[in-house]
Amino acid sequence: MKIKLLGAGIDGLSLEQCVDRIGEFIASGAPRLIITLNPEMLYQAQREPELLRLIGRADLVTPDGVGIVWACRVMGEPVSERVTGIDLMQKLLERAGEKGWRVFFLGSAPGVAEDAARNAQKNYPGINVVGTHHGYFKPGDEPNIIKIIKSAGPDLLFVALGAPRQEQWIDKYREILGVPVAVGVGGSLDVLAG
Ligand code: UDP
Repeated sequence: MKIKLLGAGIDGLSLEQCVDRIGEFIASGAPRLIITLNPEMLYQAQREPELLRLIGRADLVTPDGVGIVWACRVMGEPVSERVTGIDLMQKLLERAGEKGWRVFFLGSAPGVAEDAARNAQKNYPGINVVGTHHGYFKPGDEPNIIKIIKSAGPDLLFVALGAPRQEQWIDKYREILGVPVAVGVGGSLDVLAG
């Protein structure tokens, strides 16, 4: 059951429960959008109805802010904990190594996704990064990027283009891409790249 906060539906799951749910999404295969919802994006969505609708189309929305967790609790809704993009990505990479999920990194400056892939291979036993692409592309480059992602065939697509552009990008292309799970992760590839 979603918790309604300022028009957005939030899932009050713990980090572990989020990863379990995402595992079910991967098993089912239909393209899903995951949003870690921070206060800035929720605030922006108050003035942009289309962004609020996009949040409504997401399959899993985590509370990425102590203020959001607090507000849900004040309304009497049980919310386990704050679930940030970096925490979710790290836990998913751990699980991906165990389960053999195929991973693609899209976004950040040229070279960053490759460094992130190298570090992922060092830090997460069994991880299979099937492709990377930087996030400084023009709209005209998108058909080629979509082709690259599709032919790599990931189960999990991490998109780091900044919020809410990454969520809009996933929403626009998720049916064409057909990747079971795509999640916007903001600056997390920079963190993983070190
Ligand atoms: N980024 C990108 N393409 C762009 C703009 C940003 O790939 O056109 C990347 C940027 O390099 C960074 C990531 O998006 O790695 C997240 O940026 P930011 O920290 O501004 O976003 P937030 O964490 O606020 O979502």
